[in-house]
Amino acid sequence: MSVYTLPDLQYDYAALEPTISGQIIELHHDKHHATYVAGANTTLDKLAEARDSGDFGDFGDFGAIVGLEKTLAFNVSGHILHSIYWQNLSPDGGDKPDGALGDAITESFGSFDSFKAQLTAVTTTVQGSGWGILAYDQLSGRLLVEQVYDHQSNIGIGNTTLLAFDAWEHAWYLQYKNVKADYVTALWDIVNWADVAARYTAAKQITSV
Ligand code: FE
Repeated sequence: MSVYTLPDLQYDYAALEPTISGQIIELHHDKHHATYVAGANTTLDKLAEARDSGDFGDFGDFGAIVGLEKTLAFNVSGHILHSIYWQNLSPDGGDKPDGALGDAITESFGSFDSFKAQLTAVTTTVQGSGWGILAYDQLSGRLLVEQVYDHQSNIGIGNTTLLAFDAWEHAWYLQYKNVKADYVTALWDIVNWADVAARYTAAKQITSV
């Protein structure tokens, strides 16, 4: 039984053109995201087998269990981030948020333009593969911009992702070639602020930290 499933896109592959080509969206969703979903399910199966057999590898060299836990974090986080990324984008997106989210951005970063500059810089300068993220920190009640490596590193645990910019090359290279900065700049034209605002409202209800 699969625990995780690939969500359908809420728009056609080509709906985000010209910002992101239909070819990129199709490959990114149907191949890359699907691989993380399959990887998460496979890793859960392997962990169940390890529990059943009592074989967690050779503790002397930090064996199989260490690799399985890292693989679980990588694939589950990849699945979650991509699921958010698709919903964060819309052919009707762009501009900037108002209301409670707009106020929170101003409070946390000084202004929308300052926030935009920080998230743009964070996404553009990821070394290797990663993400630029706007997150809500339950502990402080503030919004934070985070630079995530791979899918799961360099991130504040327990923070809730509101907006995720995929900085992996598979998200842009076929269209933007070596000019990553142009992809990140263009992303702002398709941000679905209604989705981000809904995530902010929901995140504020979580008070378990
Ligand atoms: Fe991706």
